[in-house]
Amino acid sequence: MSVVGFDVGFQSCYVAVARAGGIETVANEYSDRCTPSFVSFGPRNRSIGAAAKSQVVTNCQNTVQGFKRFHGRAFSDPYVQAAKSSLVFDLAQMPTGTTGIKVMYMEEEKVFSIEQVTAMLLSKLKETAEAALKKPVADCVISVPSFFTDAERRSVMDAAQIAGLNCLRLMNDTTAVALAYGIYKQDLPAPEEKPRIVVFVDVGHAAYQVSVCAFNKGKLKVLGSAFDHELGGKDFDEVLVKHFCEEFAQKYKLDVRSKPRALVRLYQECEKLKKLMSANSSDLPLNIECFMNDIDVSGKLNRGKFEELCADLLDKVEAPLRSIMEQTRLKKEDIYAVEIIGGASRIPAIKERISKFFGKELSTTLNADEAVARGCALQCAILSPAFKVREFSITEVVPYPISLKWTSAADEGISDCEVFPKNHAAPFSKVLTFYRREPFSLEAYYNNMKELPYPDPTIGQFTIQKVVPQPSGESSKVKVKVRVNVHGVFSVSSASLVEVVKSAEGEEPMEMDNPAKEDENKMQVDQEVQKAQGDDQKEHADKKSDTEEMETSTEDNKQEEKKNEQPPQAKKAKVKTKIVDLPIENSLNWQLDGEALNLFTENEGKMIMQDKLEKERNDAKNYVEEYVYEMRDKLHGVLESFVSEADRDSFSLKLEDTENWLYEEGEDQQKQVYIDKLVELKKLGEPIQNRYTEAEERPKAFDELGRQIQQYRKVFEAYKAKDELYDHLDELEMMKVEKQVNETMTWMNNKMNLQSKQSLSQDPVVKAQEIQAKTKELYSACNHIVTKPKPKVEPPKEEMAAEQNGPVNGQEGSEAQTANPEKGQAAPETTEAKLPEMDID
Ligand code: ATP
Ligand code: MG
Repeated sequence: MSVVGFDVGFQSCYVAVARAGGIETVANEYSDRCTPSFVSFGPRNRSIGAAAKSQVVTNCQNTVQGFKRFHGRAFSDPYVQAAKSSLVFDLAQMPTGTTGIKVMYMEEEKVFSIEQVTAMLLSKLKETAEAALKKPVADCVISVPSFFTDAERRSVMDAAQIAGLNCLRLMNDTTAVALAYGIYKQDLPAPEEKPRIVVFVDVGHAAYQVSVCAFNKGKLKVLGSAFDHELGGKDFDEVLVKHFCEEFAQKYKLDVRSKPRALVRLYQECEKLKKLMSANSSDLPLNIECFMNDIDVSGKLNRGKFEELCADLLDKVEAPLRSIMEQTRLKKEDIYAVEIIGGASRIPAIKERISKFFGKELSTTLNADEAVARGCALQCAILSPAFKVREFSITEVVPYPISLKWTSAADEGISDCEVFPKNHAAPFSKVLTFYRREPFSLEAYYNNMKELPYPDPTIGQFTIQKVVPQPSGESSKVKVKVRVNVHGVFSVSSASLVEVVKSAEGEEPMEMDNPAKEDENKMQVDQEVQKAQGDDQKEHADKKSDTEEMETSTEDNKQEEKKNEQPPQAKKAKVKTKIVDLPIENSLNWQLDGEALNLFTENEGKMIMQDKLEKERNDAKNYVEEYVYEMRDKLHGVLESFVSEADRDSFSLKLEDTENWLYEEGEDQQKQVYIDKLVELKKLGEPIQNRYTEAEERPKAFDELGRQIQQYRKVFEAYKAKDELYDHLDELEMMKVEKQVNETMTWMNNKMNLQSKQSLSQDPVVKAQEIQAKTKELYSACNHIVTKPKPKVEPPKEEMAAEQNGPVNGQEGSEAQTANPEKGQAAPETTEAKLPEMDID
């Protein structure tokens, strides 16, 4: 499985992967570790990431950004409607009522759901991970803001599915950072010691998230979290844009907001200015040439004035900090460290306010931009069986209290109860008991609208189906398991009916639960919830906050419950019960149905294919363009003497024609047209290029052949002179060598002679390859004859032993030791033992 973490930020994304050496943030095709959260739509393809961001001015209406905030939201959502008016691109309603974006794509107006757009971004990030890991990627962990509600989380999960990803966990931004911190820190308190309390602050582009975590070795427990979604880098950009819009209206009489292109440029420049002000407190300029109506604009600002303009924003820094301290009832002295991350955490005034609140220097142990992605990759590695990571259990919190409501015949109205209070540990399951004769519905909802950054409290409706009365006609006991899962999403995960069957002795079964007669009694449910909460506390006392353990122990609880279901008397009477699983029908708020998901997945695949084809077409076009420029340069450079004047002129003309064609008729052609064009040009260019290459290679090849001729010639001359070294060689064979050498020499001289009379602009008389072949031929004919070893003379016996231990082939150093008579015996073993190590070297 792949081990990948994706930080899908409002403005930028990061990809971290686990490789043998550890966790690594990987770069995209531009060698940049940051991939902008932008998707741009064109007449032939989509561009995603950096390529899309570069089109934000030129193709502003079809370049979308900042879409993360529309996940899981209805088009009619006031938040969406408010955002719509300030967007350069258009929003539209999906048939299901959710938010879509309207763009021109492939020369048609198209509406894509937010899940589809995020899936496009995720596909790009997936590609980056795949390029780094050199294998397909599916399993991953994806970050989301800790304040995302169920609908928003489910929408991100759907986007992952459309992109072909298997998201093992949606991880809250600040929790991912906390995990990275926990794994990075070696000095955490032992499990039995007082935990270390650390506050994490992520100041991103669209949100300001704070959470408090308790650490022990191998254990991380989130205690509480708070946020402000009006306090991120973008809100500071807004202040600057507003300031300069007003200034330019006065100074230049320009209505910037009336021109989307100008507005986008102003946003870009304001962001740059904001970043500069973080590092510099003096006056800084903002200049934009040809801004609107051919007017160049300029302005300036300094940090002091900027902070004045942002006073209202900066005042919001404290509230979430106060909130987490109140939620957790911690005192400032309890806080060991305050770790900050996120791009906008670099704004000095934000840091000052946070630091002042805690009366502490802020800590920046982690990489402010990459910590979230790294935390996600670490979580993925922990979940992966293929990676060995130190175990680290994570207990999350439920950010908003969740209640269930249902109609109750007994109370003649609606009953409800809170199943997960705020900051309840998660993931977690609880079992609730109902007494019913027929199918019934539960509605899950957030019970505190005041703190919910979402207009609709409903999570979903869950209908427990196939509920029937007991054979006796009484209500059946129905156990319903509700759960907040690893993604932070609520569900009714299972339901079962406890059917009482007759005892083995044929006795009438005894009543199992005495209050069963009081049909659909609210108290029953409450007690069960209480009981589940009790178990929950027990779990905490046992310090079993790990997800898996929690699940097992919850399962254990269920088992226990099953045992306890039967009161002691009932057990004596041997009443048998049968557990029947019940189907549940979900109707979740803004959930995409399976059919839509399949269609989107299929379309994403088609769009990826279309992008690929378009890239190939563009590449083919680029190759033609590159060839034109390259050859034009070379024809008057290195290739000049390898082409006749007439040919050079006609080829130059052809190149010029092609260049013009590329700007006109050839601007937009099929891939094959470009391929054919290149072949046509190469037909003229390649012979010239080949002559040049030949001229470069030929002298080298002749040199090598000449060297070999000399070598064999020396041998047979020495042989003829009766040199002792060669007197063992065969005479007939040596004659063959002489003949071969002479023939080759004649061949070489002849070719060299002819070639020297040939112009460089004509094809050579002999190719380097032919000369090399000749060299090979000479070698094969002669080498085995002249290198025949001299027969050995039998040496006397003692000398032979010495020779075996003697130095061989330059290994004198190491072998000299083995010749030592004292170590003689051990020597072979030592040499053998050393071998593997040498192999590794
Ligand atoms: P979110 O977490 O809200 O989804 P994100 O993860 O995309 O958004 P980050 O990448 O953490 O956000 O931060 C981006 C923001 O940080 C941008 O507003 C950017 O302008 C701002 N930023 C980056 N560097 C600096 C700097 N040196 N000074 C001020 N602001 C900066
Ligand atoms: Mg972020």
